[in-house]
Amino acid sequence: MCRHLGWLGEPVSVASLMLDPPSGLLVQSYAPRRQKHGLMNADGWGVGFFTDDTTVPRRWRSAAPLWGDASFASVAPALSSRCVVAAVRSATVGMPIESSASAPFTDGTWLLSHNGVVDRAVLPAARDAESTNDSALLAALIFGRGMDALGDTIAGVGADDPGARLNIVAADGSRLLATTWGDTLSVLRRDDGVVLASEPYDDDPAWQEIPDRHLVEVTGARVESTPLTALKGS
Ligand code: GLN
Repeated sequence: MCRHLGWLGEPVSVASLMLDPPSGLLVQSYAPRRQKHGLMNADGWGVGFFTDDTTVPRRWRSAAPLWGDASFASVAPALSSRCVVAAVRSATVGMPIESSASAPFTDGTWLLSHNGVVDRAVLPAARDAESTNDSALLAALIFGRGMDALGDTIAGVGADDPGARLNIVAADGSRLLATTWGDTLSVLRRDDGVVLASEPYDDDPAWQEIPDRHLVEVTGARVESTPLTALKGS
């Protein structure tokens, strides 16, 4: 399992989202507070963010622990964005540990992080997947079906693999989409934007937990969540 985070709002530094909060992704990489599966997230990390000069997201991913990356810690305060997806990874047993297996994945327009596990046997082979881990294959399936079908795709995969955990955070620069399916997700509405995170990065009482099996859409300051039900025959 991993921990992930999405941001949509005013430009803020990547460091202010990932590294500075008292229980942000940096701390979650070695001491997550609410993680049910796995003790730490030391098998890599990644961040993708949109800048105003292009619709193509920029990414920085690694197969090493976030806490050891002094270069990223130095540069992250200077990276500013209105829309960010970031993750720290705890690889499922048997999955490759390589930077291309770390979220966020991309199809060139969207960024997508998967927090969870899914049996690769229920996923179609995808030649365009970035890696061979379950999360990369799931990302390729979701991108192939289209982001407007995210809820249906997750509900279908959830029906095919009842043990799957399928929490997603995705963004295209103007929208954040997320699902809860077997793991936690919280939302924080700030004056300058909206944060979605596997677990709160601080003790602000304004964090609200999203119920399990929901689809979340953030557009501007609007946060909408709708229930998902397992579909047969994905
Ligand atoms: N199943 C994932 C992997 O190994 C585990 C990490 C995560 O929660 N995305 O890639």
